[in-house]
Amino acid sequence: MAPVTAGAVVLGIAVTAIVVSSVGGPPAGAAPSCRGDRITIAELSGGCAVSSGTVVLPDGRRFTVPRAGTTVSALPVASAGAIDPGDVSITNTGPAGLAVRIDHVWTGSPAAVRKERAAAHRRSAVTSAAAAATTAKPASSCSNKTYTKLGFRWAAPIDWSYNPGGQKVAGATVIRAGADAWTGAVAACGKSVTTTAGERLLGNTTQAIGVTATGGCGASSGASVIGWGSLKSGTLAVTCVWSRSGVAIEVDQRYSTAAAWSGTTTCSGARFDLRGVATHEWGHAFGLGHTAQNSGLVMKPASTTCEVGQRTLGLGDVLGIDALY
Ligand SMILES: [Zn+2]
Repeated sequence: MAPVTAGAVVLGIAVTAIVVSSVGGPPAGAAPSCRGDRITIAELSGGCAVSSGTVVLPDGRRFTVPRAGTTVSALPVASAGAIDPGDVSITNTGPAGLAVRIDHVWTGSPAAVRKERAAAHRRSAVTSAAAAATTAKPASSCSNKTYTKLGFRWAAPIDWSYNPGGQKVAGATVIRAGADAWTGAVAACGKSVTTTAGERLLGNTTQAIGVTATGGCGASSGASVIGWGSLKSGTLAVTCVWSRSGVAIEVDQRYSTAAAWSGTTTCSGARFDLRGVATHEWGHAFGLGHTAQNSGLVMKPASTTCEVGQRTLGLGDVLGIDALY
């Protein structure tokens, strides 16, 4: 074991908590070194700084550690009745370690949590309570004004590519229609707004999607890619967004190859409406979080089969995108 360095002794006398940052040859009782491909929440709670590796949540979702100063958010949409795995955001604050938020519960490095919780509180414009994955009687989506912000927005239109590998239905045009519900002139519920939210489909790609089969987020590639792949049963799709200081830099989406999908104008049978689910996922991509399941809004967390009403924004959805863009 390395002896305590002179520097650490000085710091130790002044502020004992700072000793935690002396990784490399930690004396007994210091925070463990957090690296490798199986970093747990319990380890992060020890306060270590993390520059690389993979965080594994208790539910098995895996996240590649984002680089310092970057937040990665995973936003799943569940099929109604399935267990909602919860939204996750992981911020690498650098020296203060990783802050992990699962729905409204914060974990991870205590110093990072204090920092990020304060930042989230400052920018929060949450107008509804936490979304509950229950199936109460739907309220009219034109009488519900709620929306939540995820804490990031785009400074420019989203340039994205489509990976058709494994597609269950021809998806590019349908998924794009979901995006365009939020862009430009938006009229719904008797309210008309013009948003600066935008997207451009660059074309097809074979590039991998940064959403993993566990429903977590892999490494940021710098390119936004949307496509298909396996996901846990009950999860229809997952959107991962990477952001720095509140400005989004990449979004990837994975639609489940295990679910039955409809890509047609009229949906029938026990299939999920790709356009409707994509509209929800793009709401996340642009920076909107969930509303209550009984809000009847596009941004409620769970979808039923052939829920074509989810293609059309409700009042809270319009107010939310207008507030962001
Ligand atoms: Zn969602």
